[in-house]
Amino acid sequence: MAKLTIPGTALDALSRSAQSGMAGDWQSADAPEGQQAESLRALWFDGDGRQIGEEMALDPMGFDLAEGFAPDGRIGAEPVARDIDLPGELPAEADHLMLEWGGERLTMQADDLVRTDDMPGEPLCRKFPDDARSYYYPVISDGFLDAEAFFAQVADLTDWMRGQQPFDGPELEPVFGMEALFWAAPGEAKSHFGAPLTGDMICTVGTGTPVLLGSREDAARKLGAFLLDGQGLVLMNSSQRGGAGGSAPHDFPAWASINACPGEDWRRIALHEIGHSLGLEDEYVLPDLPVYATWRDMAFDSGANATSKANPAKAPWKTQLNLGDDEGRPTVSHADQDGGWVDPRPGGKPLVGTVAGAHYHEKYFRPSGDCLMRSLAAPHFCPVCQQHIIDKLR
Ligand SMILES: [Zn+2]
Repeated sequence: MAKLTIPGTALDALSRSAQSGMAGDWQSADAPEGQQAESLRALWFDGDGRQIGEEMALDPMGFDLAEGFAPDGRIGAEPVARDIDLPGELPAEADHLMLEWGGERLTMQADDLVRTDDMPGEPLCRKFPDDARSYYYPVISDGFLDAEAFFAQVADLTDWMRGQQPFDGPELEPVFGMEALFWAAPGEAKSHFGAPLTGDMICTVGTGTPVLLGSREDAARKLGAFLLDGQGLVLMNSSQRGGAGGSAPHDFPAWASINACPGEDWRRIALHEIGHSLGLEDEYVLPDLPVYATWRDMAFDSGANATSKANPAKAPWKTQLNLGDDEGRPTVSHADQDGGWVDPRPGGKPLVGTVAGAHYHEKYFRPSGDCLMRSLAAPHFCPVCQQHIIDKLR
């Protein structure tokens, strides 16, 4: 019996239209939690628009945070809806399903609800820059009809990556590569995972950090065997810009569109996500709003590049310090960073100490002023992240 699933991407569209007209947006309201009580109802119709059976009450809509990227390089998080399974079997006469939530309606074709748990056949694989490397980050095609067009994108991405610190150094030059996995799109501008491949490029910089992605559960299920410990990048041949992260609290692949706004470079999303796949933490802070509480309040002590220890001498990177010492206080406090603070660059290098603000919260500390794990506008990974990547891959 075929399973029926409403993709989270469709539920996101429904919840967004229910949100429009309400004051504020996801950033300024705790709308997802507030609206979870709103019941989600579904009805089957045949091709002539006649109702089939009774209205179904479905599980309440649930949201998880996904890492999002603003056109100005800011990294943050936005709520995305989880998939919802439909009870029972597909009625023989069913043509489409009507969903209703929060006064808004959405129609979905019956075919789009039948869940497939595997990719269609084996992928065409190609390794870049060659097949003599020891680490390959998986890149999956979505929306490409032509394998060579996709491979050209991954070749370009690999070349660019190999010119970025620390991948450009002698330690990693022999190690790092990318593996391109191609499955032809199910049709022109069609996604295997319900990703938005058409639509306008929105380059306006607002307060949010928009996400662009397909159904995360669907991608994780279908791509499981092809990912590297659950990680990898789905490269979307989309006319929109942006992407989404795949990190905590769940293991999902990341997403990036090949199109970007002026001044933006989508390849930096890939670089940030490779950082995650090698064990790096996020170094940005999320606003103190209920919608971000799941990530802000996560239990956390220390990781490779974030710590709860203010004292630099207690940080995991204590052997790399070049500013600050065992004084029991952070090198740079939160107040220090007000009013256009700039890195003093001890010895002409980025500072390494403890800088307030990391792992989504003001109370945690990062090693340096700026880093690709904090912002896509940062030119490089900080020295601690670079050393971690080298140690991990070498
Ligand atoms: Zn860093």
